[in-house]
Amino acid sequence: MDFSAFDKISYGLYVVSAPGEGRAVGCVVNTFAQVTAQPPRVTVAIHKDNCTAAAIQKAGVFAVSVLDESASMELIGLFGFCSSLQVDKFAALGAADKGVDENGAPYLRAHAASRFACKVIGCFDVGTHFLFLAEPTVWETLNSVPPLTYADYHAVKKGLTPPRASSYRPADASAPGGKKRWRCKVCGYIYEVDALPEDFVCPVCGQGAAVFEPV
Ligand code: FE
Repeated sequence: MDFSAFDKISYGLYVVSAPGEGRAVGCVVNTFAQVTAQPPRVTVAIHKDNCTAAAIQKAGVFAVSVLDESASMELIGLFGFCSSLQVDKFAALGAADKGVDENGAPYLRAHAASRFACKVIGCFDVGTHFLFLAEPTVWETLNSVPPLTYADYHAVKKGLTPPRASSYRPADASAPGGKKRWRCKVCGYIYEVDALPEDFVCPVCGQGAAVFEPV
């Protein structure tokens, strides 16, 4: 079967976040969707291994920030390719760039076109992920910048799909390349160079050369 059929599905990119134990947590997903309008209902799928999934289950609430086209790869990398176990993601943001919503969940005020405060009304185990059904209780348009599409994330920002994303497929490591290829074990970024410099830093997730493996 040709899995590229799945690449024809359109998505946006979203930061989904929740109040956590000691620190607020959040991650990037492409799986936020409105399912009905009256009453408003939304769903989001989150990988079970993400801190955010456990935090949402515990708190029963989450926030969604709709990333806009001004979002940098650094911002997307912070929320999409780093773990909240290692990084306090919201602490890394400026005070004016974030807020806390009506449910106590953190959200982005900068580089987000809109945001939703959501209360969980159902959780479905779908294997690798939990699918949360939720009622948005408050929503707000934050700016007029067009929302970032998953297609532009790949085509314009040259972004990658992390292993825990719903749409992740393992890369074809056998693809021909003139030089030796090194893969970041954190984010999947592939760098082609015969000898990887010791001070090399992954341009996507910010990890060092130690996390790269030859492919
Ligand atoms: Fe990386």
